[in-house]
Amino acid sequence: MGGYEIEFVKEAFASNWIAPLGPMVDAFEREFAQTIGAEYALALSSGTAAIHLALILAGVSYGDEVIVSTLTFSASANPIVYLGARPVFIDSEKESWNIDPSLVCETIVKKVKKGKKPKAVVVVDLYGQPANIDPILNICEQYEIPVIEDAAEALGATYKGQSAGTFGLFGIFSFNGNKIITTSGGGMLVSKRKDLIDHARKLATQARDPAPHYEHSEIGYNYRMSNILAAIGRGQLKVLKDRVGKRRYIYEKYKELLSAVPGISFQPETPYGRSNRWLTCILIDEKEFGATREDVRLALDAEKIEARPVWKPMHMQPVFKECEVFGGNVAEEIFRNGLCLPSGSAMTDEEIELVVDVIKKAKKKRK
Ligand SMILES: *Cc1c(COP(=O)(O)O)cnc(C)c1O
Repeated sequence: MGGYEIEFVKEAFASNWIAPLGPMVDAFEREFAQTIGAEYALALSSGTAAIHLALILAGVSYGDEVIVSTLTFSASANPIVYLGARPVFIDSEKESWNIDPSLVCETIVKKVKKGKKPKAVVVVDLYGQPANIDPILNICEQYEIPVIEDAAEALGATYKGQSAGTFGLFGIFSFNGNKIITTSGGGMLVSKRKDLIDHARKLATQARDPAPHYEHSEIGYNYRMSNILAAIGRGQLKVLKDRVGKRRYIYEKYKELLSAVPGISFQPETPYGRSNRWLTCILIDEKEFGATREDVRLALDAEKIEARPVWKPMHMQPVFKECEVFGGNVAEEIFRNGLCLPSGSAMTDEEIELVVDVIKKAKKKRK
């Protein structure tokens, strides 16, 4: 927490608004939209709920196909399956580790030729690094395919100077406990279209029609954010800039200390995107470095330092083994050699140096 949250929470308690709606939720939505330059925002119980609603409002339903990055967290793809639709996974490009725009274009053209136009495209901004979304927006506009930007990890990042998550028909964000700012759990759906956000708000509130009694003409969900959690979110928004600054500092520090080590490289920063550096991720080239990613992870683990492999691509997951994938080698290699280093905003220089020391020693041990 940043210190501002408790005053907002006290205010929420004093007002006795302890509900999945209320003035804190309204204010959080307003302030969030202002912070990232989005037109309309809807606070929800999770980022996953936001993706689910975005897909529904993009018109995705049973039997449809939805294009999505393979190198991501499963929550980018799961809601596609909730709707009885099928994810079509696309490989990453090396430049950003994000979905490969030319492969997206090729896939759309191929699918359209076969008479199976994808119903939507979900673009993920991996580890806070914005994807190269312009070429994807172009082809999707041409074929009238809605784009959903999964910016769950990328709050505070920018693409060509504009906030990540504000490009597609919808953008989604997460305030889960591990994200760059948190409400303990929560999410946000943003859009330029007021009608869509209004409809999403209705669906998220059990889809009540306007009537004195309970009247329902569509299936609803219980997806709204609690007024108490929105109070935490308002406080967290005040420290977002600092958090991005700190995460970027941590990345730079690791880079400074590790760049001279042969066989270690970092998730690159593209010329068009400014990452929030949610997590600092490295690639370990076994031959050049002299130890594998797993050797390094275990060496850190032995010192009680938790580091995790980069997301295991969705097309390699047992649950998605029947799904179609285009390419896959780039994501597989990033998974095989990629490690997410400890990147918490509270890290000290000494802690970063300790992590670096253990990494360097892992190499010696192996030799
Ligand atoms: C965290 C995350 C989500 C899901 O957000 P929740 O708030 O945890 O439901 C979706 N996509 C990506 C890429 C994420 O990292």
